[in-house]
Amino acid sequence: MPRVLAIDIGGTRMRAAAFEGELLAYEVLATEVEKGPDHVIKRLLEASHRVLKKVSWEKIDGIGMAVPGPLDRVKKTINSPPNMPGWDNIPIGDIFESEFNAPSFIDNDANAAALGEAIYGAGKGASVVTYFTVSTGIGGGCVIKGHIFHGAGDNAAEFGHQKLDPFGPPCGCGRRGCLEALASGTAIARRAKELLLHNPQSLLWQIVQGNIDKVSARLVAEAASKGDALSLRVIQEAGFWLGLGIANIINLFNPKVVILGGGVMNAGELILKPARETALQKAIPQLASIVEIKVAGLGEFPGLYGAGEVALQGLRGELDTL
Ligand SMILES: [Zn+2]
Repeated sequence: MPRVLAIDIGGTRMRAAAFEGELLAYEVLATEVEKGPDHVIKRLLEASHRVLKKVSWEKIDGIGMAVPGPLDRVKKTINSPPNMPGWDNIPIGDIFESEFNAPSFIDNDANAAALGEAIYGAGKGASVVTYFTVSTGIGGGCVIKGHIFHGAGDNAAEFGHQKLDPFGPPCGCGRRGCLEALASGTAIARRAKELLLHNPQSLLWQIVQGNIDKVSARLVAEAASKGDALSLRVIQEAGFWLGLGIANIINLFNPKVVILGGGVMNAGELILKPARETALQKAIPQLASIVEIKVAGLGEFPGLYGAGEVALQGLRGELDTL
């Protein structure tokens, strides 16, 4: 098996690993995105050298990278992701190639995570896997027979921006009522804040000590788990919208497995139950009858596994099979 350096760059955390079909050694670092690309890349290169040293690899065969979009997979550049100011046209592939003298292959974080889960995680063995990452925003990925479906312009599987309610809340993409505007962590916090103003007795008020700016999806989930009616309602509504979004994807792709990852899924059954019930109820019965809706299986590492697999497939010339 080729020896791969796997890299996963996120807005909050970044990771480097020695990958050989499994993670042999890895490091997780705070990205410190506010300090700019030079600082971030320098620390990531240093971490990469440390993990390769841990496994005593003096030479590697390839580099796989999961990075925030938009990106250019051919030029291997990161092109101004909304959550990473100053990352304009950064030739991340070339930088790592010249440092480690090996070819690099890059893809966006949601696609990489989908691939990681499809091959090594909750979707192992399934022919068609769709993946939702439910976090600050909502990303998606579709893996067919072990390969990422990229679309004609490399931007397929924007599951978070399917339109569920044309008169719904505004979305980061400039439109209204996208799944992301209804079920992401940001949407959950926003909805809870709206309802809080009319519910001064809510436990959520106590948890944030009367400071509405502190309301986050994590705290809403915490209050919901303690039985707070307002928070339960918000999480259940988000679960309903997520389920509706999943039903659409089931109808479009006929997946064997739908995988749900991202921080919001830490709310567990509170969100999973309404999502699953709605998805199975709203999807076409023949398609619903064969699908499994599962939570992600690789913890905080689907992007790293996916980055590793992107490199393995790149080295075999299989990246654009679909
Ligand atoms: Zn949108």
